[in-house]
Amino acid sequence: MNKPVLLGIDVGGTNLRLGVYRDQTLLWEARIPAHLAELFGQAASPAAATEALLELLARSIDEALAQEPAIAAVGIGFPGFIDPRSQRLSQSPNMPGLRDLDLVTPLRQHCQRPVRLENDALAAAYGEYVLAGLHPGSLIYVGLGTGVGGGLVVDGHPYPGEHGVAMEIGHIIVEAGGRLCGCGNRGCLEQYASASGVPRTYLERVPGALLPADQIAARAAQGDGAALAAFEQAGEALGQALAHILKVVDVGTVIIGGGLSLSWELFYPSLRRRLEQDLIPALRGRVQIRQSASQDRAGILGAAMLAGRLLAGPDQPASQPSVAREDS
Ligand SMILES: [Zn+2]
Repeated sequence: MNKPVLLGIDVGGTNLRLGVYRDQTLLWEARIPAHLAELFGQAASPAAATEALLELLARSIDEALAQEPAIAAVGIGFPGFIDPRSQRLSQSPNMPGLRDLDLVTPLRQHCQRPVRLENDALAAAYGEYVLAGLHPGSLIYVGLGTGVGGGLVVDGHPYPGEHGVAMEIGHIIVEAGGRLCGCGNRGCLEQYASASGVPRTYLERVPGALLPADQIAARAAQGDGAALAAFEQAGEALGQALAHILKVVDVGTVIIGGGLSLSWELFYPSLRRRLEQDLIPALRGRVQIRQSASQDRAGILGAAMLAGRLLAGPDQPASQPSVAREDS
């Protein structure tokens, strides 16, 4: 039997990424520019912003369907908290106007196909899980972007938590009384180990030099001490947070993606050092920490594969262990 054709959409701050998959084979992909913050800033009301968002998503689905009419289901990774029971978007920290929204029903009616909405980092975690071929197993995905997102897959099942807030790891406090965070607390991980945190560290060390993280990485590659130290501090913060997380959810694999993960060699040594130091001895040396190899496609792949689970029934992992794998 042919595997179904599935559409995955990853909603980001500056664009929507689309990928059409059959199993893990990418059939078609596209990137639709969309500056969501501006879209919501310009909208006259939350209702108008919702309308604009729905129109954008519907147009994206139409574009994919024009390319691949065989699409059987649509999965959307969205930066916000998704209620796992109702599939409603309960809140989106970066788009404060959006609250308790049903995006699924209007989109399902529009495209006449099953639609699934998930948190974007959870979708990416599931994509990484599928790529890792754990069959089944457990992993954590950490996305280092402007903020820090996290997703957990437990025994082959994505774990959103009771309120869709599980693995909101960017707000684990790594420095008591540290930098003020958008969430209202101080010293959160994402104030240090993100594409916005590294520039803050660099600015503290080199007053007046507010540079984007990739330029700081370029300076670090040339031996700039303050730039090297900014990434070292990011790794240290991540190692500290991951040690806490791993003591709570004992998974064997952590995969780190997102734009900042491209500077892997700049933060991994301090991450590993701090992680080993803070872990309990039983876990030391036993957790795999890997850079994502998905080329930033884990989000679209995961969203597509999660949509496929709608077709398989609510609780079926995409990849069941098979008898043939027992010898591997
Ligand atoms: Zn915070």
